[in-house]
Amino acid sequence: MIPDRSQTDLTAPQQVPIYSGDLFDPDTSAQPSAVFFRAESQRTILIVDDERVTRELLSHQLQVENFKVVTAVDGSQAINIVNQSKPDLVLMDIGMPILDGYTALRMMRQLYDGSELPIIMMTSNSVEDQIAKCFDNGASDYLAKPIQRPTMIARIEAQFKLGSALSALRESEQRYVLASQGTRDGIWDWNLNTGEIYLSPRWLAMVGVDDPNWKPHGTSWIDLVFHEDRERVRSDLEAHLSGNTDHFETELRMPDQDGGFRWMLCRAVAVRDPLGIPTRIAGSLTDITEGKVADALTRLPNRVLFSDRVERCVEHYKRNASRRFAVLYIDVNDFKLINDSLGHDVGDEFLIQISERLNSGLRKSEAVLARLGGDEFGILIEGITHVEDAVHIAERIQERIKAPLQVCRREILARISIGVVCVNPNNASVDKIIREADTAMYHAKKYTDNGISVFENRMQAESAAKLEMASELKDAIRRDELSLCFQPIIRTNDMSIAGFESLIRWQHPILGKVPPSEFIPIAESNGMIIEIGNWVLRQSCLQAARWNRISKNDVIVSVNVSVRQFSGEDLLDQVADALTESELRPDQLKLEVTESLLMEKPEEMIEVLNQLKAIGVTTGIDDFGTGYSSLAYLHQMPLKVLKIDRSFVSNLADSKKHQAIVRSIIALARSLELKVIAEGIESESQAAYLQGLQCEYFQGFLYSHPVEADNALEMIENGWREGTQV
Ligand code: C2E
Ligand code: MG
Ligand code: MG
Repeated sequence: MIPDRSQTDLTAPQQVPIYSGDLFDPDTSAQPSAVFFRAESQRTILIVDDERVTRELLSHQLQVENFKVVTAVDGSQAINIVNQSKPDLVLMDIGMPILDGYTALRMMRQLYDGSELPIIMMTSNSVEDQIAKCFDNGASDYLAKPIQRPTMIARIEAQFKLGSALSALRESEQRYVLASQGTRDGIWDWNLNTGEIYLSPRWLAMVGVDDPNWKPHGTSWIDLVFHEDRERVRSDLEAHLSGNTDHFETELRMPDQDGGFRWMLCRAVAVRDPLGIPTRIAGSLTDITEGKVADALTRLPNRVLFSDRVERCVEHYKRNASRRFAVLYIDVNDFKLINDSLGHDVGDEFLIQISERLNSGLRKSEAVLARLGGDEFGILIEGITHVEDAVHIAERIQERIKAPLQVCRREILARISIGVVCVNPNNASVDKIIREADTAMYHAKKYTDNGISVFENRMQAESAAKLEMASELKDAIRRDELSLCFQPIIRTNDMSIAGFESLIRWQHPILGKVPPSEFIPIAESNGMIIEIGNWVLRQSCLQAARWNRISKNDVIVSVNVSVRQFSGEDLLDQVADALTESELRPDQLKLEVTESLLMEKPEEMIEVLNQLKAIGVTTGIDDFGTGYSSLAYLHQMPLKVLKIDRSFVSNLADSKKHQAIVRSIIALARSLELKVIAEGIESESQAAYLQGLQCEYFQGFLYSHPVEADNALEMIENGWREGTQV
């Protein structure tokens, strides 16, 4: 039966069991009239009234609505009940013996606030001052007697709804507090109408504000930002507030206590009113210093941080002239070779190990090691007196790096070059210091045995000359400054001439003869090598065809081909054109490719080598032993010849290790069915040793230096002999 609320009031008492101070279950036969709001479990309501009839009637009405009911006859009994087990709501009369409603209300409020325990007071009908007093003492609401059942139920449900909303709000507030405590980000919330800004404790700590009560107003927080970044922050903010960007996001620097700064990412979104006017902007502040200034691979400081440290040193040492500081620029020799032939994973691991090796020998208080990019590292050393101190540190580093590195189950010998610059802070800029250290490093790599050079001004002039060389090389062909010379390759069985390797020369109008080791790398880096290589190819074929025509002989010309030519599309066309133009037989042309180049992109190489083979051109592997060949690929490459690098041949006499290497290279060549050329033979003993190993071809100064084309023809006709050195 669904009771009709509208007709039930306190004047119509009903028979219900009465319980005092106890919980009792509702009458299960009674059905709720309506469901306004239902919590998962039944709610308990405490009815406090000295009139038995009222207690009974209300109890019944509430049980019918599926509430549990507890009753108390006066204020003090009610307090006891609340103390023992908090009900969900209290419905309390005002006038009661022993302890009246107001007093009980105040005492309950000391235990629970309105959001925890709603208390509805039952007042005499429309007695205004009673109502006011109820609220003064902390009542949640009131009901005027005689109590109408629907009004009572509605008011009770309203209290429960309010309570749920409040607890949801409290939960969400707690969640927000927990989240902002748990996050490493700072939180900010700016009321654009009042100018007030809330900054979370983390925000303040991140920017170094000690006072947790510090309250900036309006845009004054921007004054904390590093001065160079303030303008950008303002304009990014302006762009977002004026609706030009979806969100505000800017990177800024916050000065730290050490005179440096930390990088922050500041993000926020504005809240707008219906007219689109921003009223509030809130967001986060994240410290991104780590990612900004640390190198991702080695975790060392990166170039940005290194430059910053050098800059600070310049400022510091300007004021402390008695001591100086030095910058070491370190480059790993032949890193590209390792990376290209062993793969990037090995390359990465190798760099990590190098960085650890470099770091292990440094006193952290005086030196900063950074990765400047690729295979380049920088070390900043403070507080030195003489340049020799810095050189001494460089020597120690070279010593440490000598022991082989274990990289991905391989043993790799690392070699590094170190440029040293001892800084005079009075006319120094960071760029200049790093550039000079780099120049000295380049010098160390090219001209020294110990791999260490101290910067001198003349080095700058040399590198300027190198730049100029690059631009002059562009006109070298047109100005007829390039030429070819040819070095014979001798058959070891009868010492006859098998062919010639063509080697390029540049006759510079001022510098004189420039060796290929100096200008080929420049031509490779500026792309000129394509044009130069094609010129070499054509000239070599023309010469070889001429020799064979005149001498009625069958010599082969070997042409060096560089990386860029192989990766260009045109190599095959160029080879075909050169053969057609010169009428040289394809089998009289051999292309030499260095080992490192072959292994750079082995799969592509195999394809090009097969195409060359298809047109009848022979290919050989040059400078073997200096790269990191993969046997799996070597097997698939249609090569004919393997040239042992000069460095192994030149050390043959006194190095057992080199003898072993040469023996194993020859054994490898046999298994790959390749003929072997030993290059760089300068002594009879080297020749004898190699002859003993059945090496098929010799090339070296012992037989002939590279000679001019006409000398080569003469050798073909009359047998080899030392010609004019070119
Ligand atoms: P490479 O192809 O290994 O050439 C052999 C180099 O060793 C030549 O130096 C040659 O003069 C030198 N050499 C030969 N026998 C001896 C010897 O007994 N003792 C010593 N100490 N050296 C010997 P060169 O002409 O200075 O060429 C150096 C490198 O320049 C070549 O090494 C090659 O990689 C490159 N190169 C030369 N010409 C060209 C070219 O036309 N195109 C390309 N891409 N590279 C070239
Ligand atoms: Mg060669
Ligand atoms: Mg070679």
